[in-house]
Amino acid sequence: MYLEKVTYNAPQEGARLLVLGAIHGNETCGSDGIARLIHEVDNKVIHLDKGHVTFIPVCNPGAYQKNERYIDVNLNRILKMHDQPKFYEEHIANELVPLICAHDFILDLHSNHTKCDPFVFLDYPDDESRKFCKSLGVESVFTGWPDLFMDDEDCTTLACAHRAGKVSVTVECGEHHDPHSIDVAYQCIVNALMHLGMISKSNEETQLFPPRSKFVKMYRAFIKEKGGKLIKNWQHMDQVSEGDILAVYNDGQEEVSPINGYILLPNIGSKIGDEWFYLGTQES
Ligand SMILES: [Zn+2]
Repeated sequence: MYLEKVTYNAPQEGARLLVLGAIHGNETCGSDGIARLIHEVDNKVIHLDKGHVTFIPVCNPGAYQKNERYIDVNLNRILKMHDQPKFYEEHIANELVPLICAHDFILDLHSNHTKCDPFVFLDYPDDESRKFCKSLGVESVFTGWPDLFMDDEDCTTLACAHRAGKVSVTVECGEHHDPHSIDVAYQCIVNALMHLGMISKSNEETQLFPPRSKFVKMYRAFIKEKGGKLIKNWQHMDQVSEGDILAVYNDGQEEVSPINGYILLPNIGSKIGDEWFYLGTQES
């Protein structure tokens, strides 16, 4: 067994929630937010009225110990059952997939390498998922990620949960090691528990975020094809207009925005062949 988990069963029937931390080993806000919540449940600050919740504070223990994203392969790209697991993360996937299948709602807590406000990936935005997503209180919600990568077999936590008929969201709680990202992770768990009717009342600090969500559909991924640079120091969620030059390659070729929308997840450090930035549009 690779994974340590903490489970609570309320006396009354209810939803089954799974909360995941550190799917990427260097993204520890989820682990810390979970630890805070476990402490509060154990000390009866928060009381579970209904349902069943499982916490896995550290989903990639090997990478967590080394403060790295992963050991052999990205766990968030290989979440399916592996008949003959070779890589470290494939062994973990074989433990994690049955747990995902055994719950109704999956809250997957991550952090980001750049400074940015918290946001949610909602890859399978049906009505129930949208409601769950809105309840978290995180302002920006990104949909359409799977459409950008249709050629690949999608083996993220969200795709794994979706295949099993579960509601799932991934929250990017802020920059790695920003203490506020722990508050965000904690608050998302509390808000999810409240939304699912599993806790009647939390402590006084509910609703850290404005109760509104802006849904942004991912439009296109820009891969850095050769040497070049972004035209400016783009920040996540900067607005751009159709025709704006976004980046210039060393040979003079330009990347121009085909739409009015937002720059998403710019990575000035990306290598040739990697994702450089994304464009998104606000859903109407
Ligand atoms: Zn991550």
